Amino acid sequence: MIRDHFRILSFDLSAGRGRVVTLEGRDSMVGGSALAATLFGKYGHADKPWNDPDQPLILAIGPLTGYFPLMSKTACAFKSPYHDQYAESHGGGRSALSLRFADLDALVITGKAKRPSCLSVGSRHIELKDAHYLWGMDVHLTGKMLRHMAKGSGHRSILRIGPAGEKGSAMACINVDTYRHFGRLGGGAVMGTKNLKAIVIQGDGLFSLPENPDYPKLFQKVYRQVTATHMMSKYHNLGTPENVAVLNGIQALPCRNLQQTSHPAIEGITAENFARDTLLRNAACSGCPLGCIHIGYVREKFMEENQYFYRQVSYDHELIFAVGSMLGVDNCFAVLSLIDVTEKLGLDVMSAGVALAWATEAFEKGIISEKEALVPLQFGDDREYKEALNHLAFGPNDFYRLLGQGTMKAAARYGGEDFGCVLGQEMAGYATGEVFFVSQALGFRHSHLDAAGYSFDQKHKDKKAEEAVEFLVQDELERVFLTSMVACLFARNVYKEELLAQCLQSLGYKTLADNLPRLSRQIQKLRWKTRLATGFDPREVMIPKRFSEVSNWKGPVDEGFLRDLKKAYANRILELAKG
Ligand code: SF4
Repeated sequence: MIRDHFRILSFDLSAGRGRVVTLEGRDSMVGGSALAATLFGKYGHADKPWNDPDQPLILAIGPLTGYFPLMSKTACAFKSPYHDQYAESHGGGRSALSLRFADLDALVITGKAKRPSCLSVGSRHIELKDAHYLWGMDVHLTGKMLRHMAKGSGHRSILRIGPAGEKGSAMACINVDTYRHFGRLGGGAVMGTKNLKAIVIQGDGLFSLPENPDYPKLFQKVYRQVTATHMMSKYHNLGTPENVAVLNGIQALPCRNLQQTSHPAIEGITAENFARDTLLRNAACSGCPLGCIHIGYVREKFMEENQYFYRQVSYDHELIFAVGSMLGVDNCFAVLSLIDVTEKLGLDVMSAGVALAWATEAFEKGIISEKEALVPLQFGDDREYKEALNHLAFGPNDFYRLLGQGTMKAAARYGGEDFGCVLGQEMAGYATGEVFFVSQALGFRHSHLDAAGYSFDQKHKDKKAEEAVEFLVQDELERVFLTSMVACLFARNVYKEELLAQCLQSLGYKTLADNLPRLSRQIQKLRWKTRLATGFDPREVMIPKRFSEVSNWKGPVDEGFLRDLKKAYANRILELAKG
């Protein structure tokens, strides 16, 4: 719906009631990231802990959602159990278009339900349902049950958590429509602490397309760019797993808890191998004609003789790195099995894989024993890792409960802080060098998608801290407007400033179209201000010693450059928050 204000559903789980409110300010707050930060300012509490029932869980979409290709994501904001600071996570699936067709720009959930519940919302209903019978169920079974129970197949989005979220793990994700997630920084635990097992969003409304004759022409232009040119073909073809062999080739693939940057048996887990042996089909988020989601299969024998069942499992570069190269697992089916187990438990695969990589090295070094690990952890042993993943989600002892709150929290108690592969949170799959390490460690979401530090590392040999920091700041500036749309960041080379302005203009958002650079700066400032207000101090971020020991195609990491860069970026972030 095109309008100059936001339509927001605010639901209080404690009271079991919700109401739709309107909020002025579309021309300054845009949507997505910017709207989420604004709503956190209105509903959130910087001084209360993440699990206080008053804290909100926020979902927000943007002005172009549903109108243009790849405007397919939702921004999810909350105070994170990982660091008790403001956090943002992005997910796709059908979530964004379901919100659009439910006629909502945002959903704000506060309070705590009296019993495990499922919140169902649509354009004509709001209902909190008892879901005690789903509590304890894994993510897949919960999804299956809800798909049977909720009407609107193809129009509804089902967000749910697994046991990890119920137990309060800071690595718990929110699963979105099976193959997408609000993956990082513990959104699943925020739902768990609210007794909220699931959210079903029914996109059951209708709205007319814009009458402006420029709109269909512009849509066609964008559609052609994303489908009929090479700009995005990599994502559909082999997908992001293409990076596995590329990074391995330049010795920049984190392997075995980053003790190595290449893997001698990499062929077993390259994109080509996954495609040839395991790929069943591609899937897409609603509103995306591209389909970057690669779905392979795993099968298990459940009865003699030759009785098998199979499951479909999505894979991408980050997942293959986290439970493949990082754990020394070099068979594509073993990797898919580990992803499958992790997904069912409702754990973020990246965080879980990197945490277990640290635990394995700690086990090998005798820092922890089988008393803590409960299984003899060993790089390459996928069967023991399946057990360990269950322990990580359910937390049967102090060690796993602590590890589920973050690798560095376990390392602080047991030792091994030097080799925790943590850059703000468990690292993403790039060992490209100093700029990426600093970019993820200090970045807003501690994500490889905050800014392309990995790309800067690959294109620049000189070590100029100020130049690198300027790149990170400018790259973030472009991305914050896209995440306020909320665009899939894979389309960042398509949706440049001029095209974004044309798209906004075609829908009648003239003020937004005319003020992109100013608004981007404003959003960048707002987000950092919100983050700092909840306790983030970039000067205090630690980069563990392991990252100084990395050697890749450029040679060993330069500790002095890493230090200078971190200091310069931290100071710049403080300036950005002041504006
Ligand atoms: S490119 Fe992939 S992640 Fe992005 S919107 Fe399309 S299917 Fe979803």
